[in-house]
Amino acid sequence: MKTERSKQLFARAKRVIPGGVNSPVRAFGSVGGVPRFIERGKGCRVWDVDGNEYIDFVGSWGPLIAGHANPAILKAVRSAMSKGTSFGAPTELEISLAETIRDAVPSIQKLRMVSSGTEATMSALRLARAATGRDRVLKFEGCYHGHVDALLLGAGSGVATLGIPGSPGVPSSYANLTIQAPYNDIEAVRSAFQKWGEQIACIIVEPMAGNMGFVPPVAGFLEALRACCDEYGALLIFDEVITGFRLGWGGAQKHFGVKPDLTCLGKVVGGGLPAAAYGGRGDLMGQIAPEGPVYQAGTLSGNPLAMAAGLATLELLAKPGAYEQLGAVSARITSGLEQLAVEIGVPLCTASAGGIFGFFFHEGPVTNFTEAADAHPARFKRFFSSMLEQGIYLAPSPYECGFASLAHRPRDLNRTLEAAQVALEKAARVR
Ligand SMILES: *Cc1c(COP(=O)(O)O)cnc(C)c1O
Repeated sequence: MKTERSKQLFARAKRVIPGGVNSPVRAFGSVGGVPRFIERGKGCRVWDVDGNEYIDFVGSWGPLIAGHANPAILKAVRSAMSKGTSFGAPTELEISLAETIRDAVPSIQKLRMVSSGTEATMSALRLARAATGRDRVLKFEGCYHGHVDALLLGAGSGVATLGIPGSPGVPSSYANLTIQAPYNDIEAVRSAFQKWGEQIACIIVEPMAGNMGFVPPVAGFLEALRACCDEYGALLIFDEVITGFRLGWGGAQKHFGVKPDLTCLGKVVGGGLPAAAYGGRGDLMGQIAPEGPVYQAGTLSGNPLAMAAGLATLELLAKPGAYEQLGAVSARITSGLEQLAVEIGVPLCTASAGGIFGFFFHEGPVTNFTEAADAHPARFKRFFSSMLEQGIYLAPSPYECGFASLAHRPRDLNRTLEAAQVALEKAARVR
């Protein structure tokens, strides 16, 4: 596979952009090789600058649930764009997207649009601290909530991939307010609350973890978090930046029937443009400025192009059968991989739900970050490189999940599994 042009661009990028990329995992640090510079995408496919074609399971890290350059989304964005790109004044599109989200997500009565998932979690955290008058927050090891200072500790994916525990530049007085517990460990949560219960403003959690690979919650885990928060007067924040509108209409909270106080959304709700949101109980959201004293603002918040892309995406997802289709894509990949792994004799465990799937080179089950980190990184690396060489584009890290789209067709999945057979055979030879 020719990668000359990507190589040249990467060298040029590195001279002007730190590491040559605008988000660390894109640099292929943990898998080696040249990051592919992408020229265009269509449906489930992307083409790089050397003309190589790939079936894409990254989907811009989640937003592109309808595939690349979806005609309905492009049309909506074009139509919005023809009227101007930004006004810094309210528009009707913002209300329409907010209403759609409110009607879909059980715990959301009111919400605020922002431009990234990081902004959503940062703002939800500020609100939780303001509403409770408490400073401490509890998060889970391996959950990533954006690059918010207080939430970078043990933050899975990018951070874990780099092998750094948190980040220099986060004041220890901040990090000290963050309590960490292993994912799915309710006993650890209870003992943290016994110790600091009256000081904990909130628990923030990915209700299905997607940043240490794909790790679903064990039965009763989310219910126990809800109960703990209620007992101690803390708030429960679901970070549904991945799961919102990807796991199903209404997200993980609808799927599991557990209501958080606040919810963070991103990725899919922006339809491939920069939009995210946080929302929840009306009395809490009423504390956000200008209705209340908790300040939060944004020059491009509710941007009309992003609102149009988000709305058009949700319209596609609202069609009957959309989530069944996504679920079938994810399940076909994971069941296909499992079957191949058994035939080849390489330990592999998988999980899938809605438009999300994941796999670990591990006997399983994988229920937390320690177990995820115990999977075989060298095998993943070999598997990843072989898949890429064969034109299958997976996230370049063992700590990410795979994203299905409405544009993946059965023949794309067959091709993917044919490639996976070759890649798994290679991975199996790695000791
Ligand atoms: C991607 C992600 C974020 C951060 O969103 P950005 O738009 O990248 O800032 C937050 N939480 C979760 C669960 C995510 O996967």
